[in-house]
Amino acid sequence: METQESILSLPVNFVPTPTQEYRGYRKEKHLTEAAGAPVEHLQPPAELKRQAFLPGPRVLIYEQDSTVMDPATGSTTVLLKKKFLPSFVSDGPNDNRIASAGMPPVSKNSFGDFIQTPGTDSFDTVQTFTVTRMALTNVQRALKSAGVANPIPWQWNAGSNTEPISVFAHGLPNTMNAFYQRSSKCLKFGDFIKPGSSPAQRIFTCRSLDIVAHETGHAILDALQPNWLSASAPVQTGGLHESFGDLNAIFLTLSQMDLVEGIIVQTKSNLHNKTFLADLAEEFGLALGRTNGLRNADNDFKLSEVGTEVHAISQVFTGAIYDILADIFAFERNISLKDDAQTLFDSAHYLFGLLLRSLIESPATNAVYVDVANQMLSFAAADNKPVQYRNFIRNRFALREIIVSPTPLTEDHKVGFKFEAPQHTNGKHHVQDRSRCCGTMKLEEYFDMSYLQDEINELKKFKKK
Ligand SMILES: [Zn+2]
Repeated sequence: METQESILSLPVNFVPTPTQEYRGYRKEKHLTEAAGAPVEHLQPPAELKRQAFLPGPRVLIYEQDSTVMDPATGSTTVLLKKKFLPSFVSDGPNDNRIASAGMPPVSKNSFGDFIQTPGTDSFDTVQTFTVTRMALTNVQRALKSAGVANPIPWQWNAGSNTEPISVFAHGLPNTMNAFYQRSSKCLKFGDFIKPGSSPAQRIFTCRSLDIVAHETGHAILDALQPNWLSASAPVQTGGLHESFGDLNAIFLTLSQMDLVEGIIVQTKSNLHNKTFLADLAEEFGLALGRTNGLRNADNDFKLSEVGTEVHAISQVFTGAIYDILADIFAFERNISLKDDAQTLFDSAHYLFGLLLRSLIESPATNAVYVDVANQMLSFAAADNKPVQYRNFIRNRFALREIIVSPTPLTEDHKVGFKFEAPQHTNGKHHVQDRSRCCGTMKLEEYFDMSYLQDEINELKKFKKK
């Protein structure tokens, strides 16, 4: 296996190829042995021939944050990886759903690939497009596996409007911020000088897979539940938005097999051991104005402990889903049958689909955590999953004070039973405090600003004596 160091010592446009000798040998074999009339039964069937299409590109990206070490090698060098995007991408990069914006377009190389030098504007453009694309693909796959029709539109796509989302890798110069903005149909990522760095070090939020996936998560949830971004909604509705951004990053990580294998190595297959999956991006979290990093998914917060600050309350939901993931993975592990990485990959894929369907089926306005919890229980039963799945879901949400269980948690969950929220944590009447959220949640357009108009109206009525 190549180490990170050896990858980094190669030119960035390096693509492994066989030796001259081996290619010569193959060509010779081909000339001496493969000649002759085509054999009928070796021809591809007609259906396969019709599937000929332009292949997607290879891309070079940071597959995690620059602060993360490679769990397989222990190297603290960033995870710079080549990935293959399976569908066609034009120069830009652009496709039907995502348009790179605000930077000179990047052209493919002679292999049809986007391999740019890290640290350049063109690398950042490719990085930001790619992570947005991977995040959207992951959501669509999880829903499609669960039988939900695809593709997932953006919030403004309706009727004949098929406009893509614009992605600005360097959209907020000298700004410690990143956001999704519905009114301008875009994601924007900031860059800034790291405070106290000497020599001055510029931090680019677009280089963090977590941040790009988090903001893409806001865009996707806004498409699925357009009333949930409003700052007038209950604090838990805001919490669902912030949490989904983080969960979108977690489940995107778990959709990349190389990263899943790294997590297995790092944790020895116990997701409650320390892992970059749960605890990430200290540097970038601070950059977004938070005191505790971008997230700590493997936390023990209960609703009664977090107040009304939306980012804090989001971690209660994120923590519950993370615990359910760890429970399902531990339950499904079967090392005599399957590699742990495959089991974790499959468990995460199922749970993400379950979560997405539950978010879609929750109330269009004023949704709170208990709504999503009840939907998850219903779908797990409808999917004929073992009762343990429902027990994990019920117990984790109960421990977080999201639901109250009238029966002991040691008993099996009964199909169809709907839970209530505990009285003291139902969260329906609290006002959202968005002071520690990402840029999306702070944009004016999601706040009720009608009082400003009221002021104008009052002014118009005012008559000078
Ligand atoms: Zn956010």
